[in-house]
Amino acid sequence: MQEFPSDSQARREILDIGRRMYEKDYIAANDGNISCRVAPNEIWATPTGVSKGFMDENQLVKLRLDGTVMHTGDLGVSSEIKMHIRVYKENPSVGGVTHAHPPICTSFAIAGIGLDKAIYPEALMNLGTVPCVHYETPGTQGIPDSIAPYCNDYNAVLLANHGALSWGKSLMEAYFRLESMEHYAMILMYTGNIIGKANVLSCDQVQELLEMRDRAGIVSGGVPPCCAPKPTNLYDSVDPPVQVGCPCAGKGICSESAREDAQSKPDQKEIERITREVIASLGISQH
Ligand SMILES: [Zn+2]
Repeated sequence: MQEFPSDSQARREILDIGRRMYEKDYIAANDGNISCRVAPNEIWATPTGVSKGFMDENQLVKLRLDGTVMHTGDLGVSSEIKMHIRVYKENPSVGGVTHAHPPICTSFAIAGIGLDKAIYPEALMNLGTVPCVHYETPGTQGIPDSIAPYCNDYNAVLLANHGALSWGKSLMEAYFRLESMEHYAMILMYTGNIIGKANVLSCDQVQELLEMRDRAGIVSGGVPPCCAPKPTNLYDSVDPPVQVGCPCAGKGICSESAREDAQSKPDQKEIERITREVIASLGISQH
């Protein structure tokens, strides 16, 4: 039997997570929304028209999953609550939902690229792959319909040209998944567009993580569509492949200090030649 937080616990946690989302720049102005299930058919949620970083409990709204408002609060219900309700209806094990516009996740959503590269065990275990669902106008019925197919097999989605949506057994789990998404998106951005290289995990490595995930009792999260046929990450970067253009290439470690040494240490023969010249110019004979 599922346990639910009390009304007051849920309200406090919504306020707390709103502040965290705002402080982390996941939302600007009045963006985003947060909800928490307190009974099989009842949720508390953030209202419309307020910064989620500066809410008080009197502004929160309580609804039944059929849309009936049980407690209006000072500000009224957000049009985006429909997508929260849809997640709870599709997946009865969900206890909390968060929605925000974290800049890197939203950039992937604008590019129409899901977060599904097998490069990072934490992301694969606790978050899973994150599909990017097609664009629908914010606040319309199109969004709940677009996410419905993913509510049971995944833990989060990107909404095309819009932002991020995550859910979990508790509101805190949903929020941590939102954090993981933005972190994972940042790593994908660095490896894809800034560093320009990513070692994709091998199929055996992915399989091992999926089995660990099963054993940990995590039943959702999707499977990355691609894995490397052979591992490409089984070398220590202290002994990298020979680098073109590095003065000590082929001689072992190509660290910054080794490079400086190679450049600054004069050749022994050169020292002897200069010494001979100096001695000769001074007219001293060498014995
Ligand atoms: Zn939004």
